[in-house]
Amino acid sequence: MPYIAQVEEMNKRFQAEKGYAPKYIILTYGCQMNEHDSETLAGMLEKMGYEKALAENEADLILLNTCCIREKAESKVLSHLGELRKLKKDKPWLIIGVCGCMTQQKDIVETIRHAASYVQLIFGTYNMHHLPEYLAQILSDDSNCYNIFAKEEEIVEGLPAKREYPFKALVNIIYGCNNFCTYCIVPYVRGRERSRSIANIVSEVEALVHDGVKEITLLGQNVNSYGKDLKDGTNFAKLIAEIEKVRGLKRVRYMTSHPKDFSDELIEVLKKSQKVPHYLHLPVQSGSSRILKRMNRGYSKEDYLELIRKIKEALPDIAITTDIIVGFPGETEEDFQETLDLVRKVEFDNAFSFVYSKRPGTPAAVMEDNVSAEEKKERLARLNALLAEFSHKKNQAYLGKTEEVLVEGLSKNNAETLMGRTKSNKTVIFSGDEALIGKFIPVKITEAQSWILKGEVAL
Ligand code: SF4
Repeated sequence: MPYIAQVEEMNKRFQAEKGYAPKYIILTYGCQMNEHDSETLAGMLEKMGYEKALAENEADLILLNTCCIREKAESKVLSHLGELRKLKKDKPWLIIGVCGCMTQQKDIVETIRHAASYVQLIFGTYNMHHLPEYLAQILSDDSNCYNIFAKEEEIVEGLPAKREYPFKALVNIIYGCNNFCTYCIVPYVRGRERSRSIANIVSEVEALVHDGVKEITLLGQNVNSYGKDLKDGTNFAKLIAEIEKVRGLKRVRYMTSHPKDFSDELIEVLKKSQKVPHYLHLPVQSGSSRILKRMNRGYSKEDYLELIRKIKEALPDIAITTDIIVGFPGETEEDFQETLDLVRKVEFDNAFSFVYSKRPGTPAAVMEDNVSAEEKKERLARLNALLAEFSHKKNQAYLGKTEEVLVEGLSKNNAETLMGRTKSNKTVIFSGDEALIGKFIPVKITEAQSWILKGEVAL
């Protein structure tokens, strides 16, 4: 890429003048797709001679990789941009950039320019790979570069990535979404579904394993839709079966699944798999068929329960988590009771529960919302109490068992302990040597709380 070499040259001159290589920091908001995009952005920046900064005040380039799924995420970005004003004043050469889902929304460039005129770089999700070109322009003439592509392009393969962990990696298999759930902004900011070829995915996984990766997570807004656009008979079940063959790979996770596209063929592949743990995140969003229809989810409560029945029949020890939205426009107490009923029937291991957040530009944003804020809050509290009950019950079943855990790092709340995940994606905290990070080890579970397990190394 000529622009990479051009920026690298400019950064060498920066280093000669200032006595240090320019530093970057990426602040990532939102989901794992964004986390993975940030790894790609970091990979490109390091190819251009940037070094990672440990704090914002050390950086010469600050990129905010944004999310717009909830209103809160957006206001967080705007308020953080306000906080960066002083840094820009103290360091005039600092480049502040905004990218990611939020920038693909209508009028957002104007909003950012109005709120923070010192933001020099704005680009969208479809043109992320043009970052070297935009930096070359800004570094040449200190101009602003605001460039949002209106439409998705071909998938760009082979971009460099700076992975956060040496032993586990995120691998995109499909971009975009065709579902248009009425509350969701994703199809408008990430475009239509585009699947990568099995050959490209498998060769990326092989290269990762060669570099020491033991666990991969296959990513997509709807992984179960993988391959439909390729129109050659490829599907997610076939992809898993191919990835399963990669020697040296130990665990394959995937996210996110959509109930309406979860096939019997996939259940069969999962049943035979030696590498896909018995763990599934299957967003249900509501237990009321009436609300599911208003959400345009493409399944009813009964369909979801039938799918869970089939999955549990094939994989009796599977751990299942979900996403639930409370207070969707028009949700009555009866609808909410249907959700509680579904939670009781499925007995989820864990769930992400949210109060409905209106996203301008989506069909749900213009639906009449007759549920008061207090009512929504109160329903969320009731739902969370029920979810905690099941999570606690499920975790209790691990007491005394020895689980294979991939040690991911130091515990966030106590740097003297380690944190890892079981096959079923349960977080386990335990004491141990830092040398265990990145290894699969047996851990005996000694304590089960509602959201975490505690244990001791059983080597
Ligand atoms: S499946 Fe629905 S909720 Fe998920 S990204 Fe697509 S539109 Fe959004």
